Order: sequence, then C-alpha cells, then structure tokens
Amino acid sequence: MNRLDYRIDNLDHEVKRKLKETVIRLMAERGVTLVDVAKLVFDLQRPYYPTLSLEECLASVNSVLEKREVQFAMLTGIALDVCAEKGLLPEPIQTIVASDEPLYGIDEVLALGITNVYGTIGLTNFGYLDKTKLGILAVINDNPQAVYTFMDDLVAGLAAAASARLAHNGMA
Ligand code: MG
Repeated sequence: MNRLDYRIDNLDHEVKRKLKETVIRLMAERGVTLVDVAKLVFDLQRPYYPTLSLEECLASVNSVLEKREVQFAMLTGIALDVCAEKGLLPEPIQTIVASDEPLYGIDEVLALGITNVYGTIGLTNFGYLDKTKLGILAVINDNPQAVYTFMDDLVAGLAAAASARLAHNGMA
C-alpha cells in the first residue's frame, strides 16, 4: 500500500484491513505466521484453560492485529529490522540494531505498545516469553542470517496481548 492510499483512506475501515494484511504479509516474509504466534498463546494459556483450542488462540491473535497501534508497532519494528539487515540505518543505530545490543532496550519498549493494549496480564506474559523464548521465538533468535532485533519482541508482545485478551474474556 502506498502513501497516497493511506492518506485518502485514513479514517476508513478499509485502511485498517489493508494495514493488517500488510503486517501479516511482512511477518510471513520474515518467517513468522499467525499460527506460530497462536501456538505461543496456546502454550501460555492452556494450563489455565484445558479445553482451549489453537483456533481460539488464532482468533485472538487476529483480533489483536485489528488494533491500529498494534499494526503501527509491528510495521515500525519490522521496517527497522529490514533496514538494519540492508545496512541502511544511520550510525550508531545501524550497528546497535544489527548486533542486537543487549542494552538497547527500545525493541522491548516498542513491543510494550502492543502488550499495554490488554493491561498487566499482557505485561507479565511478555516478560515470561522474553525470558523463556518458546517456539518460534527460539527459531528466529537462532537465525544468524537475519536481523530480528525488533521482531522477536514484537512477536512475543503480540502473543502476550492475545493471551491477555483470552484471559480478560474469561476464556483462560
Ligand atoms: Mg529484541
């Protein structure tokens, strides 16, 4: 979607749908599907809700991705990872992002914009995923070919928010 599209349709539901589609496509291009994220949600919430299905987790991930602030956080972080991979960021940010400097922390801050949508439960889920690196998080963290400085936190944030959403809806 180009800049003109965005300006024209800014208040339209259609732009939200297009933004969501763009996020899903960019995530897939970076090797992460919504099912991967749903599996993280399932692992987080299943202990509290034995009849929880992967489909319910996937629906929750889809619902979180409807939110504009979530879409913007995803688009921003993925863009920064991609630019860092191509060596396009100005220094010193290029080196900091490309090397996933441990003290940088702005990748986590951006992801908090996603977890905050569903309050404190989202925050604690995010902290747990950040420490344990379950599922797809371990896969992308172990890929030395690509920059996933923002992506790992964004995916964890998305899964954490989708889990908190289920909890708030009394499903887990
Ligand atoms: Mg990170």
